[in-house]
Amino acid sequence: MCFVAGKPNLFANANFDASGLVRQVRCLLRFVAVLFSVTFPAIMAAGKPFSFKDTPGKLPKEVIPLEYSVRIVPNIVEFAFTGTETVKLNVCSPVRQLVLNALELEIPEAFLDGKELPKSAIKIDKEKELLALALPSQLVPGDHELALYFKGKINQQGQGLFYMPYQEQGSGTKKIMLGTQFEATDARRFFPCWDEPVFRARFQLTVVVPENWLAVSNMPIESEKKITEGKEVRFAPTPPMSSYLNVLVAGELDFIESRVGPTQIRVIATKGKAEFGRYALEATALILQYYNDYFGVPYPLPKLDQIALPGGFGGAMENWGGITYYESALLFDPKNSSAGTKQNIYEVLAHEMAHMWFGDLVTMAWWDNLWLNEGFASWMGTKCTAHFNPQWEVWLRRELPRDPTRRVGIAKEAAMEGDARSTTHPIHRPIATEAEANSAFDDITYKKGQSFLRMLESFLGEDVFRDGIRRYIAAHKYSNTTTADLWNALSEASKKPVGDIAAGWTEQPGFPIVKVKRDPGEKVSLTQERFTVNFKNAPLLEWKIPLTYLVIGRAPATLLMISTIDKLENIPADRALKLNVNGTGNYRVQYDEPSWILLLRALPKLGVEDRVNLLSDAWALVQADRAPVSLYFGLVEKLPASTEIAEREQIINVLDFINGLLLGNPERKEFQRCARSLLRPTFETLGWQPKDGEPPTAGNLRASLINVLGDLNDPAIIAGCRERFEKYLANAASLAPDLRPAVFAVVGRYADEKTWTTLHQLGLKTTSIEDKRNYYDALACANDPKLVKKTLAIALTDELPTSRAVFLVPKVARESAYPDIAWEFAKANIKALLAKTDAAGANRYAPSLFTFFSDDSRADELKTYAKNNLPPPSAPEVAKVVDEIQFRAEFKKRLAAQLNAWIDKNDP
Ligand SMILES: [Zn+2]
Repeated sequence: MCFVAGKPNLFANANFDASGLVRQVRCLLRFVAVLFSVTFPAIMAAGKPFSFKDTPGKLPKEVIPLEYSVRIVPNIVEFAFTGTETVKLNVCSPVRQLVLNALELEIPEAFLDGKELPKSAIKIDKEKELLALALPSQLVPGDHELALYFKGKINQQGQGLFYMPYQEQGSGTKKIMLGTQFEATDARRFFPCWDEPVFRARFQLTVVVPENWLAVSNMPIESEKKITEGKEVRFAPTPPMSSYLNVLVAGELDFIESRVGPTQIRVIATKGKAEFGRYALEATALILQYYNDYFGVPYPLPKLDQIALPGGFGGAMENWGGITYYESALLFDPKNSSAGTKQNIYEVLAHEMAHMWFGDLVTMAWWDNLWLNEGFASWMGTKCTAHFNPQWEVWLRRELPRDPTRRVGIAKEAAMEGDARSTTHPIHRPIATEAEANSAFDDITYKKGQSFLRMLESFLGEDVFRDGIRRYIAAHKYSNTTTADLWNALSEASKKPVGDIAAGWTEQPGFPIVKVKRDPGEKVSLTQERFTVNFKNAPLLEWKIPLTYLVIGRAPATLLMISTIDKLENIPADRALKLNVNGTGNYRVQYDEPSWILLLRALPKLGVEDRVNLLSDAWALVQADRAPVSLYFGLVEKLPASTEIAEREQIINVLDFINGLLLGNPERKEFQRCARSLLRPTFETLGWQPKDGEPPTAGNLRASLINVLGDLNDPAIIAGCRERFEKYLANAASLAPDLRPAVFAVVGRYADEKTWTTLHQLGLKTTSIEDKRNYYDALACANDPKLVKKTLAIALTDELPTSRAVFLVPKVARESAYPDIAWEFAKANIKALLAKTDAAGANRYAPSLFTFFSDDSRADELKTYAKNNLPPPSAPEVAKVVDEIQFRAEFKKRLAAQLNAWIDKNDP
């Protein structure tokens, strides 16, 4: 999120080719894709390789910015800034105007090659977010220089340059700091620029800040001098990169630092908190070495800063050399943070750092290929996290639905659920507008992308896959790419038609189910068809499926299934056969009865990966109405007793979902009793107290069980939580950090006014963002409608960081028994709430509040509300939520009827 101009020789010894940029710009032909010699011709189906001039976008491609030098003077009293910039341009063919991006900027003066343009020549198109400068005469090809003066505003939400109010560690004094967030299309709010990813340039930033502030950008500080307004900080210029990767963070900050080879690494936080970055700093060092090796091109910048922000946005942003994180996604307090926080930090770090290569060094040409950035970083981050922390079982687990702050996906299941619906879309899809670019950041992009890459890696082999990635990075560093470029590199490395296999997975929506049927004579027939949920008359599609299978007692084998029907031979009739070994494939499997019975018998011989895969598929079959719920519970009951987290969490998630769905149904009470009896034995094995030598995931599982059993009205759990909360009030150390979020949530759920106020006071007082979240999340669970309203009102105050405050409302919609009160509140205050939401959030916010309804009438209400109140870019989100409500309404009826049979069977 930031920049600067610099000495041209700064990169003389660095690993990027500075002269390469100049060559690019000198001649457009340079951009016309340099194709690899590809062995397999079928790549057309997966799109075309990168070509500058064919890349979509609004900006004309005749003029190319080479170097920016930008100086910004923020005014933190008036929340505004002034700026100046010069841009070195290369003009490839004669033009009569310059067109670039600008949004919410005033531009009083513009100069070209030192001559001022008349005021009438400066035109801003607000709608299109464009700045057009009419030129007095035709501009001839060659080098030119544009200079602009501009004024902008400092926003409350994480868009462009924004401010964050926070309480200082220790003193609790109220302070303010600045940060930026530019992806996808908000760099144009900070300075006029060619704000499309294909326009790579060097950026040199200078900023004026108070003397006691630390300013951080992509590159190290080059010089600093005192001036009347404070100090002027000049950063070194960046390598050629996309505009959305610039960063500026400034405030009263501290840091801790270390070094990996030539790279300085730092964790930066508000004063007094830097030491909580110790865990992240150590992880950064390990991850950096791992990636330096994996990608074959070492991290190219002189420094890498990991920066904790106390607000503004909820996730993390991969600005090159200066990654920003929401504070609780980076800082770990060993005395007070939970195991879940620790794991989340690792995953987010690994994801964002993977972007330093995939995204920053090599960038997708246009937002239609966003998955190249996000699917890849999700896959790579999870692979790296699993490598260093196998005990976390990260490939198998999905984030818990009660943790909506998690952006980074480890969750194949979440992507498959969305991808089975009528509202899904291909990984690769056209993006025309800024709003569409912001909507591209969804589960399909992140998680289906990740899941497909994992399937492909397991099919091609880890080493071959890595060699392909190394080829890709080496060939495209400091440039842009499309999906076809990645397939070409992997095809070269593997000598397999990767583009041909991939096309079905990236260019068309959905995924297949493979049906397994035993035939006489040791033969098994396989049939594929599209797997859908709540989607009648779905278009028929076919995939090339890289199948893996396992006959118990033999080594796993593979089969590329290229048509609707296929066969496996030599499968003994009395031996269990498991498809999708370790669940690495992005498809469902349905077994015929003889195969299923053999599998149930073989459960103790299967690893946890395969058991989780069977559970997930069985539950998906129930959702799709391909099997009754007894198939799923029959499997759960046959599982060997275990405390393996991924397996137990899968069951917890399903029970939690059903419990939410049955809200208000007469079956709910009996269901809760049966569900408690399913989960209780695991909790009793674990107990309340952490034990010496237990696996590190035991704390997570214990917390999940407490949370869900509390939800399921377990009187012993509720009493146990209350007792522990009282002790915690007297002595915080008495309650293990792992258990705090769960214990607070259960106490909050059954809170009276006095308890609610106690939790609220704790939340007001703490300066830890993580603790704050735990307390306010607990408030959001309250079941008493009077307290529900009190919690909702907090969303309009400044008690919580802006980005968190608004999400209190969806949290209440999900956790309390009153999603209707949450929606009424949001409807009445929508303007104030949306003012606190960033660009990506604005399209989703109102629809997201309907997600927890399960009456058809609410689907109609949302449609009407959207028609009258929401902008057109919200349409895909609205359609998704309407589909979800209709699915839930149908599923609720079906499930209630089927559950009766299960409940009767479990009657004591
Ligand atoms: Zn990402």
